[in-house]
Amino acid sequence: MTPAWPQPTENDQLRFLFQLGYFADQEWDVVRSFMFGSAVVKDAIDRYADFHGVTGEEPSEHMLRPRCGMPDFARAPEAASQSKWRMLDVTTAHRLSGLNPLSAEREHALWLAADEAWNAVCGIRLKHIDDMATANIYANPGSTGAGVLAYSYLPNNSGPEDQMQQVYNRATNWSERLLLQVLIHEKGHAIGLDHGPAGSLMQPTASGDIVSPQSWDIAQAVSRYGKPGPKPPEPPSTGFAFTLNSRLSPGGYQLEPNATAYDLDVATAIQPGRYRAVNEFEMG
Ligand SMILES: [Zn+2]
Repeated sequence: MTPAWPQPTENDQLRFLFQLGYFADQEWDVVRSFMFGSAVVKDAIDRYADFHGVTGEEPSEHMLRPRCGMPDFARAPEAASQSKWRMLDVTTAHRLSGLNPLSAEREHALWLAADEAWNAVCGIRLKHIDDMATANIYANPGSTGAGVLAYSYLPNNSGPEDQMQQVYNRATNWSERLLLQVLIHEKGHAIGLDHGPAGSLMQPTASGDIVSPQSWDIAQAVSRYGKPGPKPPEPPSTGFAFTLNSRLSPGGYQLEPNATAYDLDVATAIQPGRYRAVNEFEMG
């Protein structure tokens, strides 16, 4: 899951590219024998530079940037769309405290903000709970390897009983912006998103530069969970409910004084056309 951080030797660059998924189905025993100047390796480096939008620096320098531990290419493209939860209500929990130098209170606030970042742009409803043993997505601090900020597992048509772990590097010197970016990014994986192109929140590297889902990320999330649902409606006033109630009687659409807005929507929906028809039917 977590690629070893490359030293700028040719062999380590090769291993890094292999671990990030740039040699498709090839085994390491095969890849390690590739000549560094060969066409197959040049092609992998070109694809790395292209995917990461590398300009003005050597790809080997870019490989030293702090990044997510997940590979750039882990799966066949057709498998990616299958990576999602079956339900919209997904719970999250964490034991992130003491990520240097942030306070537990700030870490928790950022955790909640990262849930909301996805709730705001797609139909999923991430909700924090205290129970690490039952939360669908749960996170701990841990050792992820030098240069690796964090990693997360991805769902595979997962259900309410399933759990997905994340680990955040306790050795990283975190800023609030960096942690927020990485939290939203890892939760992107945890709701099924792969790595995205340079400039997206799901780009593999992070420096606190992108702290909200971008157009690529939003399209990916909406394709899995639809657009954000309506906000929970305000409860209706008693007077309004009684008005509707009296107008609808003696039909079958009784509205209690504490009627929910959903009931009201049903009543309103039938008003111009069906209310009359129902009433006439009942009268007749
Ligand atoms: Zn990632």
